Amino acid sequence: MSQTIHLSPPDVGPLEESYLVAALRSGWVAPAGPDLQAFEHDIAERVGTNGAVAVSSGTAALHLALLGVGVRPGDVVIVPTLTFVATANAVHYIGARPVFVDCDPRTGNLDVDLTADLLRRLRSRGERVGAIVPVDMFGSCVDYLSLAPVCAEAEVPLVEDAAEALGASHRGQPAGSFGHAGVLSFNGNKIMTTSGGGMLVSDDVALLDRARHLSTQAREPARHYEHRETGYNYRLSNLLAALGRAQLLRLDEMIARRRQLRDHYAKLFAPVPGVQLLGAEDTESNCWLTVITVERERCGWQADDLAAHLAERDIETRPVWKPMHLQPLHAGAESLLTGAAERLFADGLTLPSGSALTEPQIARVLAAIDEFLAAQTGGPAA
Ligand SMILES: *Cc1c(COP(=O)(O)O)cnc(C)c1O
Repeated sequence: MSQTIHLSPPDVGPLEESYLVAALRSGWVAPAGPDLQAFEHDIAERVGTNGAVAVSSGTAALHLALLGVGVRPGDVVIVPTLTFVATANAVHYIGARPVFVDCDPRTGNLDVDLTADLLRRLRSRGERVGAIVPVDMFGSCVDYLSLAPVCAEAEVPLVEDAAEALGASHRGQPAGSFGHAGVLSFNGNKIMTTSGGGMLVSDDVALLDRARHLSTQAREPARHYEHRETGYNYRLSNLLAALGRAQLLRLDEMIARRRQLRDHYAKLFAPVPGVQLLGAEDTESNCWLTVITVERERCGWQADDLAAHLAERDIETRPVWKPMHLQPLHAGAESLLTGAAERLFADGLTLPSGSALTEPQIARVLAAIDEFLAAQTGGPAA
């Protein structure tokens, strides 16, 4: 039987091995160490912020970011409905309430006009809006040129969930640097990985110092264990930071591989009416995951048909994120919707996009899609 082709598996090799073994042999096994500091420095440099705090996950970084910008229990926080659950979970950790906003159907990113509208409605009702958390969906930056003034005018802090977007940019400015604080993830399926990990980035050094303090159980500087407040065990290990340093050296090469894959898909689907690549116009995306949208009325088949065809051939695909307002967890949550996220959930399909895919694997995926398209002789449905 052929080997399963996954959506976005980790891409690690001899460089990662050598960095990890070197860290192990250096004796800096736990908890902190020089690789941790160097990794924070290198990420801050890459993103263009004053500093960074390495933590155990992107979700932990989101939690610290929201605390850092002053979100309080009872606040509302504006979150795109099309996102991974972590964005909303971090809001819950604080006892604040996420309010969901729909997306732009062409990019999957939050709809800026709708967000401005929601902000006005919430404020006219006297709600305290603790933050807005735009998500750079699938590695493509939100239109910050439009969103930033909306946040500034309302004096609501912007926290950028750039968990999927390291290496992307918007008008030349790196993803992660647009908000008061930004969040990155190094989970196993992301553009680069530390097997699990995340990073908080910001220009606000006081915010970063405070986050670093909270991430180490809020231990006071004393010889004994002294604590004044509740902290968290969120620090990234020095060993994993070493892995991250090696991955960061290869980031551009890995992005180039993903972009190549996206180009293959673009070529393959170009002649198919009704099939489009999500966010295809964004040349600054890191191409984390390639998503197609399928209009059944125009091409005569739907995303699920292609997914089933590929699954039979051990090729993994996924729907886009199930919108938060449809999740049982958020039943009854307040949302401002246009239907765009629900349509993307129904019509979108995430294709194998990993930089570790070999040439024969890529050829196998493309041939399987080709075969599917050739079999759709029925043409558009009547
Ligand atoms: C992956 C992801 C996260 C969370 O990252 P973890 O490191 O898995 O905790 C947050 N937001 C979005 C949009 C993500 O895709």
